[in-house]
Parts: sequence; C-alpha cells; structure tokens
Amino acid sequence: MPHRRRVRCCRAQTVMTMNIDLHTHSKCSDGLLSPAELVERAVANGTGMLALTDHDMVKGVAPARTACESAGIRFVPGVEISITWGGRSIHIVGLQVDESNAAFVKTLDDNRAGRVERAKEISRRLALQGIDGAYEYISERVFDPIIISRKHFSRFLVEKEICPDTTEAFDRFLKRGRPAYVFHKWMTLEESIHCIREAGGISVVAHPGRYDISETALFALFDEFKALGGVGIEVVTGSHSPDKYAYFARLARRYGFLASAGSDFHAPYEGYIDVGRLPPLPQNLTPIWHDWF
Ligand SMILES: [Zn+2]
Ligand SMILES: [Zn+2]
Repeated sequence: MPHRRRVRCCRAQTVMTMNIDLHTHSKCSDGLLSPAELVERAVANGTGMLALTDHDMVKGVAPARTACESAGIRFVPGVEISITWGGRSIHIVGLQVDESNAAFVKTLDDNRAGRVERAKEISRRLALQGIDGAYEYISERVFDPIIISRKHFSRFLVEKEICPDTTEAFDRFLKRGRPAYVFHKWMTLEESIHCIREAGGISVVAHPGRYDISETALFALFDEFKALGGVGIEVVTGSHSPDKYAYFARLARRYGFLASAGSDFHAPYEGYIDVGRLPPLPQNLTPIWHDWF
C-alpha cells in the first residue's frame, strides 16, 4: 500500500489522510499514458488527489479532470513550464491553473514554439554519432511533433538498444555537455511565475535536486523565485533520489516555502516512483495543499 500523509482540513478543523501526487505527465506531453489511463493507474495506487502537469501544455487537463470526477478523487489542474535561468533549463510547476485562460494557453504555445526545430537538430546531432532516423521515428509516434522532448529521444535510444535505460541515454547523449544536447531558450523565471499567477495558479520549483548547479546557484534561484512571488518547492519527488528529501525539507523551512510532493510519473517502468506511490513529506513542513480543503 502507498504511504499516507496527514492533511489538516481547515474548514472542518478535522484531520484526514490522503495520498497526494502533484506532478505527473500524460501522452499530451512526454508521458506514455492517456490522461484517463493515468488517472486509472493513480486510482489503482490509492491516490486521493492528483495533479496533471504536462510540459508547456494543458490539453490533457480537461480529460484528466473528467476521469478524476468519475473516479471520485480530487483533481488539481497543473502544468510544468520550461524556463531558462542562468543559461540552464529549469522547470516550474504551476498548480491550480485555469486551463481555459486564453492568454495563459497562448503563452504556453509560444514557449513550445521551436521544439520541432530543436528536435530536428537533436536528431541531426545523433546522426553525427551514427544514430539515424530519430526524428522520423519519434514524430510518427507522438500526437503532435510540437511536444517532442529529450525524453522521447531517450526512449528512442532504449528502443533501438543503443542504451539500456533512459538515464544512460541522457548521460551519454542528451544532457548538457553531451553530443546531442541542443540549447533552447525558454521563457524567463519571471514570465513563468507571472503567467501562472495570471491563470490563477501558484508556482513551485520542480525537482530542485535534479539540476546540475552549484549550491550557490541554487540559493540564488530560490532567492529570485521567492522575490518574484514563487511559493513552493518540491521536497518529495520521484525525479531525483530519496537522499535529497531531508536536504530540501531544510531549505523549504529556511526559505519559508510550502512543500510539494509529486512522482513526476511519465510511464510504467520509468523513474524512481510510480504515480501515487510517494513517501510522506518530512515533518514540520507546510504542505502546498494546506489551505485547499
Ligand atoms: Zn521536470
Ligand atoms: Zn515533470
């Protein structure tokens, strides 16, 4: 059984328990399950509240909400926005966003623009390594090439038996400094927080332990994020190793950030944690959902 965490119910002043997962992906970005299949799996794993947070994309929000309502679990509309900060790609999760906000959707569309060109360039660089046909292979298998991400290339490298798993695909070919890495300029940190706020949502730094940056740079990111109105960081996430939980719990307390938890589930057999299978948040943190009940 998945671990349960305690949630304080403000309105009724009672305490309930709920299994919460606030970071997941569907095939509307680079996940492998449809929104309905994702919800079905989350429910089977005991999830009581689920957020869908596809990359720069909210097309899956409506079907995910419908599926959650049918299953009788709470749904949180979300998104994961790619930004460029300090020359690096960082991810900001927006929770409780209004996916029908036209200006917000347009901003996400603009941020995605250029993904096709980037994907073709990654493919060209893989060809220089003797690996042909990546873009064609991937684009035939996604619903729209504008969603192609490095995750799709990592799966291609596994399916072609060039790498044993997606982690090695990133380490050998796709991450910064490797031969098929292609820099892409995303929106700024300020723009991401602003557009999430305009859509009625709150901003969370996704998987802060995953970025290959110094502690000094990480603190600078948190300082700027907080000054711009960012409210939370992911403390428990399947996107990095469990030894980081205590470290980011300390930082959440130090900065006064609300603590979020999300598996970053993309597909069965990928990543550390299945959807709805997160351990509880460490003690003495204010959960991001503390006033949602
Ligand atoms: Zn991410
Ligand atoms: Zn993610």
